[in-house]
Amino acid sequence: MEERIVSANRNIEDDQEIEVGLRPRSLKEYVGQEKIKEKLSIYIKAAMDRKEALDHVLLYGPPGLGKTTLAHIIAWELGVNIRITAGPAIERPGDLAAILTNLGHGDVLFIDEIHRLSRTVEEILYPAMEDNALDIIIGKGPGARSLRLDLPPFTLIGATVRAGLLTSPLRDRFGVVDRLDFYTPSELEQIITRSAGILNVRVEKEGAVVIAQASRGTPRIANRLLKRVRDYAQVKAGNVITGPVAGEALKMLQLDQKGLDEIDRRLLLALVEKFEGGPVGLDTLAACISEEPETLEDIYEPYLMQLGLLKRTARGRMVTAEVYSYLKIKPKDEPQQKLWD
Ligand code: ADP
Repeated sequence: MEERIVSANRNIEDDQEIEVGLRPRSLKEYVGQEKIKEKLSIYIKAAMDRKEALDHVLLYGPPGLGKTTLAHIIAWELGVNIRITAGPAIERPGDLAAILTNLGHGDVLFIDEIHRLSRTVEEILYPAMEDNALDIIIGKGPGARSLRLDLPPFTLIGATVRAGLLTSPLRDRFGVVDRLDFYTPSELEQIITRSAGILNVRVEKEGAVVIAQASRGTPRIANRLLKRVRDYAQVKAGNVITGPVAGEALKMLQLDQKGLDEIDRRLLLALVEKFEGGPVGLDTLAACISEEPETLEDIYEPYLMQLGLLKRTARGRMVTAEVYSYLKIKPKDEPQQKLWD
């Protein structure tokens, strides 16, 4: 399946952006998430004054909102090294033990998708997080002995889409738990203007506003759209991203002004046409767009709910009244109008 332009998941091109330097390096450069930044700056200063490691931090929220970026910034502000890994990459307890024993005093260990750690690996983390200790079993059977090794103090930063995906013993061991929210259009506009400066692209305010509106509240998507609109401006429009140029480029990408694409539309239309607006169960709805229920729940729904187009109720998913005018859907018996020309 072709990757969606508005997918908030990381792709290869996004990874290269680290080299170009789009990723903010300090809390000051990090746009938005004001409450989290304020809290973190206090915790960081307090830990540094006490010459202690920062307490463990769990960051959760949809992909592309800046969890990895924030982990890098925390390490940078603390003046320590960061080691980066992901839940699925740590296959055996020994893999995690090796990572932990190689950490320096006060270092940050960032585990992305931390909810995907296996149970046996997770159990190594408990004493490490609580007592800076590593319990190793030597030998097998009745002769096996347990050995406790000391670890340097360190900060674990875990990232996940929903805090509820973690087991409660793991979640309880984080001293700081924060949810990242979608960004406002004006915050995204700032991010786009900053990125345009770094990428050496000329973008007018109106152009940044149009891209921001279509970025689904997500900086990763904002940067990706900026790159595609830049290509369009370069080839078709004298290299300047004006409001109308950004609008044309989005149309070419088959996105509407709010950044909804064909799949979002299919999902909403299915709800309206097949289920009379709902309520309908998650699994049934996921089958309509040939997606996994988890993907629907964690990737598609949060933004549709943020826009006020979709509701989760105890009986299932429902569209809101706004969907009909937003998608320009006529009442049932009238012919459907095309959504974009
Ligand atoms: P996550 O880990 O939540 O999936 P990332 O930290 O990888 O998200 O962020 C994706 C990209 O979005 C980053 O590389 C960075 O360029 C940009 N970004 C994220 N948050 C911000 C922010 N607050 N200010 C500016 N750019 C941001």
